[in-house]
Order: sequence, then C-alpha cells, then structure tokens
Amino acid sequence: MTIDYNQLFIDGTWAAPSSADKIAVYSASTEELIGSVPAGQEADIDGAVAAARRAFDDPTGWAHWTAYERAVVLDRFADELLTRSPEFVQRISAQNGMPVRIGRKSEGLVPSMLTRYYADLIRRTPAEETRPSFITGSTLVRKEPIGVVGAIVPWNFPQSLTFFKLSPALAAGCTVVLKPSSQTVLDSMLIGEAAEAAGLPAGVLNIVPGSGRGAGMHLVNHPDVDKVAFTGSTDAGRTIAEACGRQLKQVTLELGGKSAGILLDDVDLAKAMPAMFSSTLLNQGQSCFISTRILAPRRRYAEVVDAFTMLARSLPIGDALDKSTAIGPLASAAQRDTVESYIAKGVAEGGRITTGGGRPKGLDRGWFVEPTIFADVTNDATIAREEIFGPVLAVIPYDDDADAVRIANDSDYGLGGTVWTSDVERGKDIARRVRTGSVGVNGYTMDHGAPFGGVKASGLGRELGPEGLAAYQQLKSIYVP
Ligand code: NAD
Repeated sequence: MTIDYNQLFIDGTWAAPSSADKIAVYSASTEELIGSVPAGQEADIDGAVAAARRAFDDPTGWAHWTAYERAVVLDRFADELLTRSPEFVQRISAQNGMPVRIGRKSEGLVPSMLTRYYADLIRRTPAEETRPSFITGSTLVRKEPIGVVGAIVPWNFPQSLTFFKLSPALAAGCTVVLKPSSQTVLDSMLIGEAAEAAGLPAGVLNIVPGSGRGAGMHLVNHPDVDKVAFTGSTDAGRTIAEACGRQLKQVTLELGGKSAGILLDDVDLAKAMPAMFSSTLLNQGQSCFISTRILAPRRRYAEVVDAFTMLARSLPIGDALDKSTAIGPLASAAQRDTVESYIAKGVAEGGRITTGGGRPKGLDRGWFVEPTIFADVTNDATIAREEIFGPVLAVIPYDDDADAVRIANDSDYGLGGTVWTSDVERGKDIARRVRTGSVGVNGYTMDHGAPFGGVKASGLGRELGPEGLAAYQQLKSIYVP
C-alpha cells in the first residue's frame, strides 16, 4: 500500500494544489514506489506566502500573542509531533535509507524536543529590556519577530533540519512556509497533521513540497518573504545567497562540509574506535558534519588504517527498516552514482582501497554502496577536497600537531571536526585552532542547545541554542529622552 497525499497544508487546512503534478517517492532499500504528494508550483508558493503574510500581519495574531500564549500552542505541537515519532522514523528510513536505529534518536525525537525547548526558552526570554540612555532618559530595546520565513531543507536529516528552523521561528512569532526536499516529502506531511491537531492558527505554518529551482527559488525570491533559512548544498546556497543579497533579505545558510577527524599521537584507538562510527559514517556518510578526512600521525598510520578498515567491515549493511542495520542504502540512484564516481576518482588519483569500493553482495535492490576506506591519500586529492556524501573515508598522514591543524584547515569548507586524544585539554587546544563552526573532542554528539553552523563554504549564521532563536528576531530601540 502506498501513502498518497492529494493536498497541501496551506492556511491551516488541506488545500487543493494548483496542478495535478505529483512527486513520486521510492524506497531507498527496495526501489519500490511507496507514496506520492502534490508537486507544489509557484502558484502554491504564492498562496502559502500570502497565508503566512496575513497571519503575520494580523494585529491580534501570532506575532502579537504573548510568549506564554505561543508557548502553550507549541507545547501542544510538541506533543503531537512526539505522538507521530514512530511514523516519522519509518517514513524517513523508507525514503532516504537512514537506519531506523539512527532515525529513532534523531528524527523521531528532535522535532518535539526542539519545539519544547524553544517554547521554554521564549517563556524565559524577556522581549523588552530598558537600558539607561548614554545622555538622558532610557531606551527600550525590543526583540521582534523577523516576519515571514521561507524554510528550505534537504533530505538527509529532514526532520531535524526542519525543526532547527521551525521551532525557533515559531517561538519568536514568525510565520513559516516550509519547502521540503522532494526525496523526503512523506514525513513533511506529518508536520501538517501535527500542526492541525495542535491548533496552530491558520497561516502560521504552511508546507509546500516542490522542486528546488521552481518552488524553492520562487519562495526565496518572493517579496513577502522576510528571511530565508536554508540547509543544503553549497552550490544552491550560493544561488540563494545571491538572490537574498539582491533583495537585502536576511538569510541563514547551512551548507556542505569536509571535516577532519584528527587522531593525535597519544590516542587510545581501542577506546576511540567505538565512537568513530557516528563521527565518520553516520547515515552512510550522508551527514554534513561528520569527519570524512581522517588525519593520522605518520608513525601510527598503518595502525589507524587497520582500525578504520576493521570498523568498516564490522558494520551490518541492509534494509534501513531492519533494526540491526548500521549502514543502509544511499538516498537515491543518483546519489549512488555520485559516490561511485568519487570512488573511481579516488583510485585514479592513487588512493588505495583497503576495504569496500563496490556494491555489497546479496543486496540486488536498493542503492547500496559498501563502506569504503582509502589509504595513501593526500589532502589535495579530489576525495579529500570535495564533499562525497557517501560512506567513503580518506585516511591522510600528518607529521606533527601543527601539520594536522594545517591540513584540517586546508579546506574550502568549515563545518565540523573532531579531535581524538588521551589528553582532553590538549584536544581542546587543537579544537580551538581548527577553523570550523563546531568541533568534538573524543566524539561528536551534536548539542542541540549550542550554536551550530559553518564558516567558509559551509555557510553563514548559526542555528540551535539561544542563538538559533535570535536568528528569527530583530532588534528595535525605542528612545525615551
Ligand atoms: P540541495 O541543495 O540539492 O537541496 C536542498 C534543498 O534546497 C531541497 O529542498 C531543494 O529542493 C532545495 N533547492 C535546491 N536548489 C535550490 C534553489 N536554487 N533555490 C531554492 N531551493 C533550492 O541539497 P541536498 O542534496 O538535498 O542535501 C545535501 C546537501 O545538504 C549536502 O551538501 C549537505 O552537506 C548539506 N547539508 C548541510 C547541513 C548543515 O547543517 N550544514 C545539514 C545537512 C545537509
């Protein structure tokens, strides 16, 4: 049985789309058709933005409610999202191949967790503060919602990345038009169902799936959209930044990554390796922040290559819906083609595959690629410079700490990274010298209460934590001499 939607969530109701075109969704593990949703067009974006604008401009509406009033509705929204948690996980795993054991912890919990977090935060964050003036009197400094937000998200962690935006935007008093990725649309429709059940006022949240260049670009360019919050590829991010620049529209960009995992010479590999899977191969490498360049001290290079080879060989590969699966399929046939072409380039440029490199035997359906470890890679190789977004790691030797930091920073990207050491203080010192938005010492568990984002080609701005709320607020000063 397939899951089919024929309407879009616009203005608090399920509305007929402007065209009969549909987005078909296939299982990454079996390649079977599993559902469809309407392919939103420019006219649907226009309708959704108009609804969001009306809801925002309503003088007694969402933006003007007290923080407490919004928080009450957001708490109900969080409850409804949590009720749908197993369904989110199932749908996402079927669509993009994320193993359920990974999805349960992230995609199942993050939507409700972040919605509750920002409901709590907005209750505790005063919207106004009176400051003594430099000259006479005082100034009232107000935090106001930015306005209508266009939120555009990718397919790899579709719910987490959606709620990195929705939860703080709604808490701040913004209204939102969400455009999910065409590859993960079935889960996005559940958000509409949860919003409806929670009683979110009409127009506060609207969901329009559609193509990036069509619906997505139209949303970015829409004059009634005040801010764009985008997560996706660096190429699309540049196009969106240019469009926002022309319109002087605020934009947050969370883009690609090619992070380094630095193993210091004192690392206890036996202790470190169990945490390496989620730091390097999570979601079969379809994770923006993972460390896909492994920097190994030259004198321990062979030992590190062996450890990663063993790790890659130990990971159960299979259907994403199977609880024992650690490595599922890639999200699409196109993604598998891309990853396979990088593997071929890696070999052509002199890299040595120690394990993997092909498609796993016995899995004839589904877009699977074996976890692949490359040794003898230098940092100028294509597989060390470009984001592959697949289960492919490059192990690169370095001479000393300064050399490790130099190689880590020799990248167009600057999103994440890890440092592995027996001496946490030394690890923090190295982490301070790595030019990225976040670094983990002896592991990487994203802290949803701390700012997350990138430098260089990895993006602009930060999401999560109190800073993630501030990204949807603007400041106004009211002078009273
Ligand atoms: P993508 O850029 O192809 O698409 C992302 C979203 O943007 C989709 O909804 C797509 O339809 C839309 N889109 C594409 N072009 C657009 C345009 N010109 N105008 C408006 N919308 C447009 O990325 P993807 O393949 O879905 O996702 C993978 C990429 O996302 C990787 O590069 C990955 O590193 C990045 N990513 C970054 C983070 C982060 O937090 N930095 C997190 C996850 C993924």
